[in-house]
Amino acid sequence: MEFMDTIAAIATPPGEGGIGIVRISGDRAVEIADMVFKPKSGNKSSDIKSRRVTYGYVIDRDGNQNIDEALMTIMRAPYSYTMEDVVEISCHGGFMSVKKTLDCILKSGARLAEPGEFTKRAFLNGRIDLSQAEAVMDIISSKTDMSLSASVNQLQGNLTKEIKKMRDKLLEMLAKIEANIDFPEEDIEEVSLKELEYGIDDVLKKIRNLLDTSEAGMLVKNGIKTVIVGRPNVGKSSLMNALLKQQRAIVTDVPGTTRDLIEEYINIKGILMRIIDTAGLRDSHDLVEKIGVQKTKETIQQADLIIFVIDGSEKITDEDRKILDIIKDKKVLIIINKIDLAYRVDIEEIKEFLGDKSLIKASAKENIGMDIIEDAVADMVFKGEIKMGQDLMITNMRHKLALEQAEKSLEKAMNTLNSGLPIDFISIDIRETWMNLGKITGDTVEEDVIDKIFKDFCIGK
Ligand code: GDP
Repeated sequence: MEFMDTIAAIATPPGEGGIGIVRISGDRAVEIADMVFKPKSGNKSSDIKSRRVTYGYVIDRDGNQNIDEALMTIMRAPYSYTMEDVVEISCHGGFMSVKKTLDCILKSGARLAEPGEFTKRAFLNGRIDLSQAEAVMDIISSKTDMSLSASVNQLQGNLTKEIKKMRDKLLEMLAKIEANIDFPEEDIEEVSLKELEYGIDDVLKKIRNLLDTSEAGMLVKNGIKTVIVGRPNVGKSSLMNALLKQQRAIVTDVPGTTRDLIEEYINIKGILMRIIDTAGLRDSHDLVEKIGVQKTKETIQQADLIIFVIDGSEKITDEDRKILDIIKDKKVLIIINKIDLAYRVDIEEIKEFLGDKSLIKASAKENIGMDIIEDAVADMVFKGEIKMGQDLMITNMRHKLALEQAEKSLEKAMNTLNSGLPIDFISIDIRETWMNLGKITGDTVEEDVIDKIFKDFCIGK
C-alpha cells in the first residue's frame, strides 16, 4: 500500500435533505474524528468500536461549540470502502451543516478529496479492480433497471472473473511455450502445438462472446438514441405522447447537448430511449422542413434507431419517399399510424423501399399498437438473446476497445501458429493479448488513463 494522505469530502448531493454525509479516509481519519466529533456518551470517538453508529455532536475545534447533532461511524482498515480507516459523519442535510462539518475536518488536517478519490483508493489499495470502479460510477448514473443491474453485475466482479480466467489461461500457454524453447525435443513441441491451438481458440471464443454483447450493452447503458421522423401531421407528437403515457416511469427531461435539440427519456422495458426531439418538432413542424435535409441526415446518421411515422389514412407522398430514401440504411421502425381511420396507404411500396424492416400498425390517438412498439424496440436491442441482468454485458467503450485489441493480437497468434513459424513468435502475440485484457481490470493500464477515468467521478465518491 503506497503512502496516501487523509482526505475528506461531502458524499451527499448539494441541497436540502434529510441527512448529509461527510466522509473521511486515511491514516488520520480516526484522530480527526476525535477532534471534530463528541459522542453523547462522553467517550472519545476513537474508543468507539469499528462499524458501530454513535450519536453525538459535531464540534468546532477552536470554540468547542456544537455545530450539529449527528451520527458517526468509524470503519477501520481494511474493512472499509477504501481499505483505509474511514469515518462517516451523518449530519442534517442542510447546506451549512455539512459545509461547516467539512470545514472542521479540513481544519483538523484532512485534505479536500478530488472527484472519485475514495473509489480510486479502493482500486489502488486492491479492493476492487478498474472495471469495478467504473461500475460504481455507472450505478450512480443508471437511469433504468437494466443498466443498474448490468452495473451491479460488473461491480460484483463478474467481468473481472471472466477476464482473469482468460489471462490465467494465456499465462499458462506462455509458460508452456517457454518450456518448449528451453527443451526443444520434437515430440514435446508437437503435443504443445495442438494444446496451444486449442487454448488460443478457447480464449478467442470467449473474447468474441463478450464482444457480441457490447452493442446491446452499450445501448442498455447509454440508451437508444432515437429520432422520430415523418412529414407534418402524421402523428409524431401524438405517438411520442402515447409512448410517454404508456411507460411506467418517466425518467427525466434532460436538455440535450445542443441548443435546438432536446432529449426526452422514455423507459421502455427497462431500456432507456433517448428521443431526440428537435425544437419545434413537437409543435407539429416537420423535422426535414425545420432543420434542412443536410442536418436531418446528420441527426439520422447519429441515431441508433429511427421511428418513421406514416399516415395510414393517406397515400404515400413524395415527401414520405424523400424521408424513406434518407433512412433506408438505418435501423428503422416503421409506424403506420391512424389505423383507426380508413386505410389508404400502400404498404407494398414501403416494403419495396425498406425491405424487411419492422412495420407496425398503430393509432396514437386510440392507443393501439403501443405494446407492439415497445416489444419491437426491446427485440431490436436484444435480438431475443439477452435477458435482463442475467448475462455479463460489455457496457463500457473502453472495455470494448481493449477486447477488440485482444481479439486482434490473439488472431495474430493463431495465424502465426498456423503458418508454422517458430513457436516463440506466438508468445509475443499471446503476451500482447494478456496485456490488452489487463487494461480492462486495470492491471496493465497507464496512470494517465486511470486519472482520466476517476476525473469523471463525482466528488465524495
Ligand atoms: P405531427 O405533426 O406529426 O407531430 O402530428 P400530430 O401528432 O400533431 O398529429 C396531427 C393530427 O393528427 C392531430 O390532429 C392528431 O390528433 C391527429 N392524429 C395523430 N395520431 C392519430 C391517430 O392515430 N388517429 C387519428 N384519427 N388521428 C391522429
